[in-house]
Formats: sequence, C-alpha cells, structure tokens
Amino acid sequence: MAQKDDIYFWEGAREGRLLLRSCAECGRIAHPPVPMCPQCHSLEWGTRQASGRGTVYAWIDSRHPSRVESPSRIVALIDLEEGVRLVSNLRDIALDDVEPGLPVEVFFEEINGHVMPQFRVMEGRA
Ligand SMILES: [Zn+2]
Repeated sequence: MAQKDDIYFWEGAREGRLLLRSCAECGRIAHPPVPMCPQCHSLEWGTRQASGRGTVYAWIDSRHPSRVESPSRIVALIDLEEGVRLVSNLRDIALDDVEPGLPVEVFFEEINGHVMPQFRVMEGRA
C-alpha cells in the first residue's frame, strides 16, 4: 500500500499525525503529491501537519463486492482546512446522518496492519 512517494503520509499516520506534502519553496500544499509544485515549479518538498479538521464534501456507501454480508462503510471526500481534498472513511455515523459541509475531524486506527486516518463528526456536533 505504501509507495515511495507517499511514505511520509503513512509514517505520519503511525505517529498519529496527518501529514500533507508542502512545497519547500512557496509552502503550497499538494495532495495527492505531485513531482513538481504547480505554483512555483520547485521540486523540493517538505511536509506540513494538517489540523485534521475539515468538512464533508461528498460520500458514498461502499460495500465489499464479494462480501455483501459484511457491513458497508462510508467513503467520503473531506475538504481539509488546508484547502485540499482527502479520501477517507467516515466512522461512527449513520449514512442518513451524513450531510454536505458536516464538520469532521481525523482520528487514527490500525486496519489490516496499517494505521489509517479516519474521520468522525467533530466533537460537540454529534
Ligand atoms: Zn512551490
């Protein structure tokens, strides 16, 4: 699952940090990562820790194609405060309760040996 290009992302997740790639020159955040900064054309990248807060942009009810009896999960596009969009899972919420713009926050959970960022409704909203 971890590729060379996004290893920082998984290393960050293991430490409970949501890391985004940011340009070393101009600070622009690129997610998913790209080789060259679209803003200043720099090839130097660093990482920036995201706040982990965002809002729901879109979502789907996802079922495993060959295991229909297993529970479905909500796969969502999350607009992060940093201005980038992340694909993740929405947890601890019923499908009917999801709405556009719902404030969510990241938490981390180990799934199949990988620590994965997951999102749930921001504290105080549930
Ligand atoms: Zn740049």
